[in-house]
Amino acid sequence: MMTAKNGVKLGVTTSFDAHSHLPEVDARHPDHPRVVCGTCESDWEAVLAHAASDARVIPMLGLHPWFVAEASPEWAPTLESLLWSHPAGVGECGLDFAGKDTDRASQEAAFLIQLRLAHVLQRPIAMHVVQAWGRIIDLLREESVPSAAMVHAYSGSPETARVLQSMGVFLSFSGDLLNPDRSRLRESLQAVDASHLLLETDGTADLVRVVAAAASIRGVSAENLAAQTWENGQRCFRGWLA
Ligand SMILES: [Zn+2]
Repeated sequence: MMTAKNGVKLGVTTSFDAHSHLPEVDARHPDHPRVVCGTCESDWEAVLAHAASDARVIPMLGLHPWFVAEASPEWAPTLESLLWSHPAGVGECGLDFAGKDTDRASQEAAFLIQLRLAHVLQRPIAMHVVQAWGRIIDLLREESVPSAAMVHAYSGSPETARVLQSMGVFLSFSGDLLNPDRSRLRESLQAVDASHLLLETDGTADLVRVVAAAASIRGVSAENLAAQTWENGQRCFRGWLA
């Protein structure tokens, strides 16, 4: 047992980190089960090796929108063959339209390939979405939402959160909750139903602090929230990777 900042006893073994990366910066609580996402061809094998050495790690392999431009022509068949041969989810993938020179068409093409892989292989998908909410919702409606889908480090409005949740998408909140300037994000957190809520470190935050902050915003105990998000994590990720 660990003690969170607010003094609540928190069983970290029942917390669940819905999104992290290699190397795992948050090595302070190595006991919690966690999703570790690859972002480009060069880290997929390392993510799989890491998961093979630690049963608490759920591996996911994807091409992050930031790295679409530099991916090799073989990235998609390589990803597909690794996914066929390993019980891994699809991601981190998605759309990030924040940059001025963003090649939106290439990002969408790469995302669609991965969304379709999640469908065909019946794997969970982890999505990175920044300033592309309307487009991602359109694509998910056109292609339909895979068996399990989540948006990591949710940064959209409470209204968008409700729309995504009504489509069955899980929403994961990161250490951004600890930023006192993000009041809209706290409203979005409150808009999410407990059944579709996940929490994450994104590889940089302290999970115990994220859980404590989210619990205090939602007015629930950290222990209950940790248990709920652990259960949601099992529903979102584990069932499809069995
Ligand atoms: Zn990430």
